[in-house]
Amino acid sequence: MTPVLRLDNLSRSFGGVFAVRDVSLAVPSGETRGLIGPNGAGKSTLFNLVAGLLRPDAGRVALEGDEVTRLPAHRRAAQGVAIVFQGARVFPGLTAVENVMVGAHTSARHGFLGAAIRSRRCRREEREIREAALAALERVGLAEWADVPAESLPLGQQRRAQLARALCARPRLLLLDEPAAGLRGAERAALAGVIDGLRGEGLTMMLVEHDVGFVSRLADRVTVLDLGAVIAEGTPDEVRRDPAVVAAYLGA
Ligand code: ADP
Ligand code: MG
Repeated sequence: MTPVLRLDNLSRSFGGVFAVRDVSLAVPSGETRGLIGPNGAGKSTLFNLVAGLLRPDAGRVALEGDEVTRLPAHRRAAQGVAIVFQGARVFPGLTAVENVMVGAHTSARHGFLGAAIRSRRCRREEREIREAALAALERVGLAEWADVPAESLPLGQQRRAQLARALCARPRLLLLDEPAAGLRGAERAALAGVIDGLRGEGLTMMLVEHDVGFVSRLADRVTVLDLGAVIAEGTPDEVRRDPAVVAAYLGA
């Protein structure tokens, strides 16, 4: 079967230094792929290359068999790629549901956005978008917080609101860049539960996380990057036992 995502010999450097180096991988439909590696290994750069926010110097990106290497980010989003950025924050001044209603890649000013969302001209569309946003909040367990100012929510709930925003686009490939960073205890468990639920629904995902344990519990397979290159790929157990991974990442 054609994989949802296929990367062939993808490379990208900054100032002569490889951030991503000759990476090839394929993520089949329904798989949750963990992506781990030390800081600076190239994980976020890889996501940006997949989402079309960066162009590779060499190599190819294919979504469901269609080459998209030269397509801009908005076209890839239309083809079903959604990304939750590392350190993503909610838009202040908007409620949780309004945050979900706002397009993930918008750069407009917040005040204007809030006004636009509430504008009478778009009332019908607004109702439909709101319904979809509420359904997405429900999927991440935030339905009861829909009308609360998003910035007043705890960090873990803000992250789940970001996740809801990505889900609202009905992605075929969801890229999560360190969604659990800075979360502890119940917040971390709640996020893991939501990701596990999406996995159960068969959503294809890539999950970057620094915490190997977190990834191992959620991922079907794990790809390990070091200095931009793939140094291991396998089941969570396989990569944890891989001597190259232990040396590069686990620091043993
Ligand atoms: P990770 O997400 O695994 O921590 P990154 O993809 O953010 O790693 O970074 C990989 C390497 O590329 C790092 O050395 C980083 O400094 C470099 N890098 C990333 N983005 C840029 C950029 N826009 N300009 C210059 N260097 C960058
Ligand atoms: Mg990163």
